[in-house]
Amino acid sequence: MKDGELASYIPELTKMNPEGFGICLVTVDGQVYGAGDTGQAFTIQSISKAFVYATGLVDRGKEFIGRKVGVEPSGDAFNSISLHPQTGTPMNPMINAGAIALTSLVGGRTVSEQWARILGSMEAFAGRALAVDESVYRSESETGHRNRGIAWMLKNFGIIEGDPMASLENYFRQCAILVTCRDLALMAATLANGGVNPLTGQRAMPCEHLDRVLSVMASCGMYDYAGSWLTEVGIPAKSGVGGGIVAVLPGRFGIGVFSPRLDAKGNSVRGIEVCKRLSKDFGLNLFSSLSDPCMALGRIFTGADAPSRRKPTPAQSAHLQAHAQRIKYLCLHGFLAVDGIEFVIRKMQQLVGTADFFILDMHRVDGISDSAARLLNQARLGFAEDGVTVVFSRIHNRMKIMAPLSRRLPLKEDRGFLSFEDNDLAAEWCENRLLESVPSDPGAMAKLADSPLFSGLPYPLLQEVEAVSQLYPFEAGQQILQSGQLGDRRIFFIQKGQVSVLVPLKDGAHQRIATLGVGMVFGEMTLLGPAPRSASVFADQQGTCLVFDADELERISGREPLLRIILLENLAKDLAQKLRSATHWITALA
Ligand code: GLN
Repeated sequence: MKDGELASYIPELTKMNPEGFGICLVTVDGQVYGAGDTGQAFTIQSISKAFVYATGLVDRGKEFIGRKVGVEPSGDAFNSISLHPQTGTPMNPMINAGAIALTSLVGGRTVSEQWARILGSMEAFAGRALAVDESVYRSESETGHRNRGIAWMLKNFGIIEGDPMASLENYFRQCAILVTCRDLALMAATLANGGVNPLTGQRAMPCEHLDRVLSVMASCGMYDYAGSWLTEVGIPAKSGVGGGIVAVLPGRFGIGVFSPRLDAKGNSVRGIEVCKRLSKDFGLNLFSSLSDPCMALGRIFTGADAPSRRKPTPAQSAHLQAHAQRIKYLCLHGFLAVDGIEFVIRKMQQLVGTADFFILDMHRVDGISDSAARLLNQARLGFAEDGVTVVFSRIHNRMKIMAPLSRRLPLKEDRGFLSFEDNDLAAEWCENRLLESVPSDPGAMAKLADSPLFSGLPYPLLQEVEAVSQLYPFEAGQQILQSGQLGDRRIFFIQKGQVSVLVPLKDGAHQRIATLGVGMVFGEMTLLGPAPRSASVFADQQGTCLVFDADELERISGREPLLRIILLENLAKDLAQKLRSATHWITALA
C-alpha cells in the first residue's frame, strides 16, 4: 500500500523514509515476535498521550485528573480545540488539548522535574533508556502555534496552573521521544500485563488505573476514527503522526506497528490495515470474544477412581470401597472469572447429595479474579454448613491464586481452607476423615500368615520361612531401600510402623507411589529375578520388619517346590490387583 502522506505540519517529519514498515507483537510472558523494520526509530508523537495519562493518574489520582480532563470521545481531529464551553475542560486526554493539560499535571515541583518523570515513566514501560529526536522537537516547537493557542486556552480556564509555555515544551519533547515498533509493542504489552514490563519485570504503573487508561484509549485513542476503529479492530489503541500505532489486548499481548504514511485523520494507513487484518484473521475484537464459562471445569472423578497411594488395611479397604466415591475431584482450568466459578459451583451443588468432600485441583488454573474467589469462598462456607468439605490441591502461588482465595469473608466465621501440595495428599486427608469411624489398632503386630505374599503356606513351611527371617528395626525417616540399587535381594514384611515408597523426580522432589502399613510387604519383586530397585523406601515412623533373603527362600524352594508355587501365585495376584487399579485410574482420567 502506498496510500497516504507523511505528516508535513511538523516540517522535520517530511524527512522520514515513507517506506518504513514494521510489525511487532509481545506476549504478556515476554515472547517477542516481529517482522519488517522493527528496529527503525521514529518519534512516538501522540502515542505518548496514553502513557502520560497513565502517569498523571498515578501521580495525582483519578479524582483530581477527572476534574481537569474529561473522558468523552470528541469525535474531533487530534488538534481540535475541544474544550467544554463552560469549564474549559478538554474532552479527553487523547486529543492534544487533554494531553497538553496532562503533561502539565504529572508529578514534579518544576517543569524539568516533570520532564524527568515523563521520560522515566515511558522508559519503564519500554524497558530501556529512551532519547529525544532534538530536530523533530525543535521543528515542532518552532511551528506548533496551534498547540500554543490550545495551551493558553487551558491556562485561561485554570486547567494549567503553571507556565503554559514551559509545559508545552515538555509536551513537544515527549512527542519527539524516539521509539521502535518493538518498543511500542513492549509498552503495549506492559499495559496488557497489568502494568509490569514482561521483559524487565519492572512495574511501570500500579494495576489500579489500567482499566481507565485502556477504556479511554478504546473510545478516544484514534480521534475521529475511534468509532470505526472500535467496530473494525475492537482493541484499545493509540496512534501518532510519527506513523506508529499501539494496540493492547488486556491479559494477552501488545502490538506495535509502524509505517509513516498517514491518512487524512493522521493515522498510519498501513498501520490501520495491519491491525484490521490481525483482528480479523485472529479474532481479536474484544467485543466478539466468546468465552465459555464451562471451560473452567475439566474432568470430574471420585476417590474410588483415584485413591490415595496409602495402602489401606483390609478393614479400611472395605470401608473405602463403600464410601470413597463420596470424595469428588473437580479439575479447574484457565483463568477463573466469576461466570466460570458460578458454573463450577452449580456442578458442585448437583453433586452435593453424593459427596462429602470436594477436592478442587487447581493445577491447570492460571489465575482467579477477586469476585470469583469471593464467590468460591462463599460457596465453600455454604457447603461446610451442609457438612461437605471443600479442599484445594496443587495451587501454584506464582499465579497469585492463594491471595484472593485467602481473603476471608467478613460476615461469616471462616477459619480458612485446606490446601494440599498434590492430589495424593488431598485424597489421603479425605480418606482419613472417612476412616475415622473404622477402629484401628496402631500398636498391633501383624502375622506373617496374613500377609498377601505368604498367605496360603502350610504351617510347617511357614515355620521354615520364619526361621530364616531376621528382625529389622527402623527409625522414622530412615531410608530402607535405594532406588536403582542392584544386588540387594531382601524382601520386607512390616510388623509394625509405616513406610512410603517414593520415586525420585528430575527436579529433586519425590513422587509417592505407595504408603504401606502393618502386614504389608515390599521389595518382593526381587523374587522374579535380580533387577535394580525401582523405587526408594523411607520409614514414616519407627517400626520393625521381618526381612527375608530371596536366595534363602529359593534354597528352601529347591527342597519344597510348593513354596515357590505359592509365592509366585501370591505375587501374580498382587500384580494383577495393581494392574487392575492402574487400569481403573487410566480409564477415569481418559
Ligand atoms: N506532536 C503532535 C501534535 O501535537 C502529535 C499529534 C499526533 O501524533 N497525532 O500535533
